Amino acid sequence: MSESTKSLTILHLYPRDMNIYGDWGNVLVLKRRAQWHGYKVKIIDYNPGDTFPRDVDIVVGGGGQDSGQDKIQADLHKIGPQLKALADNGTPMLVICGLYQLFGTFFQTHDGHIINGIGILDIETVAKSKRLIGNITIQSDTFGEIIGYENHSGQTFLHEGALPLGTVERGAGNNDQDNSEGACWKNIIGSYMHGSLLPKNPAIADWLIKQAATKKYGSFKPQTIDDRFADLAREHARKRPR
Ligand code: GLN
Repeated sequence: MSESTKSLTILHLYPRDMNIYGDWGNVLVLKRRAQWHGYKVKIIDYNPGDTFPRDVDIVVGGGGQDSGQDKIQADLHKIGPQLKALADNGTPMLVICGLYQLFGTFFQTHDGHIINGIGILDIETVAKSKRLIGNITIQSDTFGEIIGYENHSGQTFLHEGALPLGTVERGAGNNDQDNSEGACWKNIIGSYMHGSLLPKNPAIADWLIKQAATKKYGSFKPQTIDDRFADLAREHARKRPR
């Protein structure tokens, strides 16, 4: 099959309620880069009450206010088994901040109530009074330097089943104690980094596309992409104060 007849379907979780600090940009970057790599791309927006699609190659979800997380909680639990099956199967996923927290076991908000997660990631989150806000840079074994922006009250702690995405160089990350940022399990990446993340970190976008393409078609032949704008964005973001 030629690359041009190959296609990838991106499932965008809860764009209505979970989409802050430009997180939607992650979907746009995946779409454009997958096209540059030669794939046709279909984006499916999934909001509460929608029918869960049958064929999904990449799952993306963004951050949200506590109230947004409350709103989607029941529906997320309804589709939790389908998401778990995709995760077990090696489907690549990127979940940011609010949905990162809810892919874990629970998020206890600042007012003390618990929003239960779907437990795909072996993490738990408890809000503290001080919000962790600002530009953040981390080092990751897989992706090198990752640059983003964080704004969360929840502090996340990883258990045995999850590995951190990276180590914080500047900023807070998962919590104000252990210098870790994000969590990975199978082909899932959870992170606090908004920004949006992927325009400034195309290596992560290409990794997600590679996992999806390899799983679906058995191989992935990357095209050379001109990343001058991404490089400039990284350079600029790196210079910004916390
Ligand atoms: N409401 C969550 C918190 O404050 C998530 C915030 C976010 O997605 N930016 O921790």
